[in-house]
Amino acid sequence: MVESLDSYDFSSGGFGEFGGRFVPESLVAAVSELEVLFRDAWLDPEFVNQYKEILTSYAGRPTPITRCNNLSDSLGIELYLKREDLTHTGSHKINNVIGQALLTQRMGKTRLIAETGAGQHGVATATAAALFGLKCTVYMGAIDVERQALNVFRMRLLGAEVIPVTSGSKTLKDAINEAMREWVACVHDTHYCIGSVMGPHPYPLMVREFQRIISEESRPQINALLGRDPDYVVACIGGGSNAAGSFAKYLESDTILVGVEPAGGAAIINGTPGVIHGMRSRFLQDEYGQLEEAQSISAGLDYPGVGPEHAYLASLKRASYYCVTDSMVLDAFQRLAKSEGIIPALEPAHAIAWVLKEAGNEIPLGSSVLVTLSGRGDKDSETVARILGQ
Ligand SMILES: *Cc1c(COP(=O)(O)O)cnc(C)c1O
Repeated sequence: MVESLDSYDFSSGGFGEFGGRFVPESLVAAVSELEVLFRDAWLDPEFVNQYKEILTSYAGRPTPITRCNNLSDSLGIELYLKREDLTHTGSHKINNVIGQALLTQRMGKTRLIAETGAGQHGVATATAAALFGLKCTVYMGAIDVERQALNVFRMRLLGAEVIPVTSGSKTLKDAINEAMREWVACVHDTHYCIGSVMGPHPYPLMVREFQRIISEESRPQINALLGRDPDYVVACIGGGSNAAGSFAKYLESDTILVGVEPAGGAAIINGTPGVIHGMRSRFLQDEYGQLEEAQSISAGLDYPGVGPEHAYLASLKRASYYCVTDSMVLDAFQRLAKSEGIIPALEPAHAIAWVLKEAGNEIPLGSSVLVTLSGRGDKDSETVARILGQ
């Protein structure tokens, strides 16, 4: 972990032309303090060991790699899954919130605030807050509060306060604006726990580092199975945190890195550069720079922007980005369930859908492909049942 910061230029606070720190004057001190604190913590073996110990004893790491025997046979490729769906709370989000909750303690702060769209990051943050004895407030668009009633109940059960946001379109992007606004007023005792590799520096870097554990585990695991690196690493992209963590250890290898966006929220493929939510990145925006609503079958992917590292990797062509439609995702969701006995979350079903489409096309037959299964599908079963009319 420690060596991973060597190549990062803290003074620029960015990934090439993307990233940076675009915050109101009143937050400059807080994000600067966070940068220094994170760097010190991440270079402190005691902090890193504590973080890893909690991920092991509480969150269920390391997660295994599973070979998809039936799909491999039918597709003519070697398909492997990195099983983030098996972690406590059911997705990779736990890796990030444990890291940020530990930092909050280290800063001597007593409260976490977070934004959430579908509620998954809100539940993860409420979980970490309960574990560490921190107070927790989650901002959630009023429309999402209605759509995601079960996650709202979970957050409250875990002891968090959920505040419906009624401004703008009453969804995720408005919840982010509201959380940032609130943070200004309570920054002395409160840490803003951002849920993906987005926001002002150091968040995109810090969240990637907390998700690096995915590839730090997967690289030796897949090497033990194959005797070499995989030909492809594939992950879905919302804000881009599971993908950033999945790519991190392979950036300097020959492995082909692929990010898969939803067709209705493809900020890399269809977006344009801009400065929103504290960072310079790519966004779906209108001619006035107003964010548009993303549309996707999976609520966890409908952020209309993307983390700056992905905008950067795309510009370097180090990673490739594709998008898939909702109907391809529905097929992938069912096919993984039927052929492997694994019900994926709709988010990583995007990554599976791309592999199903491209095996024998973009992906040559015989290739080894490692897909990050970022979460489990229990939360989505009702949605899929409704769409399929069952
Ligand atoms: C939130 C979520 C995502 C999208 O977020 P990223 O930051 O792009 O990883 C993907 N998969 C699952 C299971 C999620 O809960």
